Amino acid sequence: MDNQESRLKSFHSAGRGYWADVSDADWNDWRWQMKHRITKVEQLERLLPTLTPEERAGAILAGESKLSMAITPYFFSLIDAGDELCPIRRQVIPRLEETTTARWEMSDPCGEDSHSPVPGLVHRYPDRVLFLVTDRCAAYCRYCTRSRLVSNASGYDFHPEYDRQIAYIESHPEVRDVLLSGGDPLLLSDEKLENLLSRLRAIPHVEFLRIGTRIPIFLPQRITPELCAMLKQFHPLFISVHTNHPRELTTEVRDALGRLADSGIPLGNQSVLLRHVNDDPETMKALVQKLLMCRVRPYYLYQCDLIQGSAHLRASVKRGLEIMEALRGHTTGYAVPQYVIDAPGGGGKVPINPEYLLKSGPDKVVIRNYEGRRFVYPDAGGEEAEWLEPVGRHGLPKRVVYGD
Ligand SMILES: *Cc1c(COP(=O)(O)O)cnc(C)c1O
Repeated sequence: MDNQESRLKSFHSAGRGYWADVSDADWNDWRWQMKHRITKVEQLERLLPTLTPEERAGAILAGESKLSMAITPYFFSLIDAGDELCPIRRQVIPRLEETTTARWEMSDPCGEDSHSPVPGLVHRYPDRVLFLVTDRCAAYCRYCTRSRLVSNASGYDFHPEYDRQIAYIESHPEVRDVLLSGGDPLLLSDEKLENLLSRLRAIPHVEFLRIGTRIPIFLPQRITPELCAMLKQFHPLFISVHTNHPRELTTEVRDALGRLADSGIPLGNQSVLLRHVNDDPETMKALVQKLLMCRVRPYYLYQCDLIQGSAHLRASVKRGLEIMEALRGHTTGYAVPQYVIDAPGGGGKVPINPEYLLKSGPDKVVIRNYEGRRFVYPDAGGEEAEWLEPVGRHGLPKRVVYGD
């Protein structure tokens, strides 16, 4: 392991940064963290002496725009104040560029609203639904694909159409998988979340539950033993977290993820490919390997959605493919996520892969491996496959006639 790699993969505590005087009890209390979030430009100016004019302007405008600013003190402590391109900083501190909108950028880039049979529910795939639980998150990612809905748009806990959401699932027996997202479902109190999970579990055709959340990363203090004990009643329950850079995987996060894994919850990760955050093979490889060390299986790598004002954070598809090429075969298969583009306008997730199939004929395919070496695979049913059939050790016929 070279130095850079071991530095990226070593676990550190976020520390206390500017909050050295806060008691352990307060710091480790998720409600204290939520109450003390950084939401105003004056706080940023005080806490981040290297705040740039673009960031200052961005933070002022965030108050008036769709997506407000909020950063937990814990996550803020991960920012490297000396580095303008700090990958943590770029994800959560607004920038002036957010106000620039390209022609092809949208407020609902995945066309979720057009696939919404009742408010707060997206039914795009045949057997599963996306259930938008709340409109709040612990912190706001500047590239949020649901910025039209989140950051306390209306400040509700449960979606106001909660009963209609449940009724829709009850009356659609094809829905066997419910994905809770939002907003962040883990911001709900244990009691409210338990109520929701119980109502979903009471529906006989709902086989599988999962939660999409960035709380373990933004607010690991929320992953209490009580929360874990409550969640484990609802198996099979999976959780997908959202991590983009190996520095987000602190000792605090590793412990929180460990508590979830110990509760029998299989963990996946969804990353977004972001310019100057994780758009290079070294960072991404360190991230996916470090995730496995936290018992999290990398699930999806998303091409950044065409959300308004995100051009400065988007990396190219070509870059994404180079990164995938650098992962597959070069590291543990479990560490390799599926790279996808959520098709603009509502086509759903489309897998994007480097090309390993070089030629495909009626009787054979030509493939290459991760090192670029070529191989011919005589395909089943073709001429070549027939005469390549091994001569049987026990006098089996040299030619096998298929179908006999
Ligand atoms: C991503 C997504 C899902 C879940 O997709 P999987 O590939 O099963 O993880 C379901 N509904 C919507 C609308 C989604 O965007």
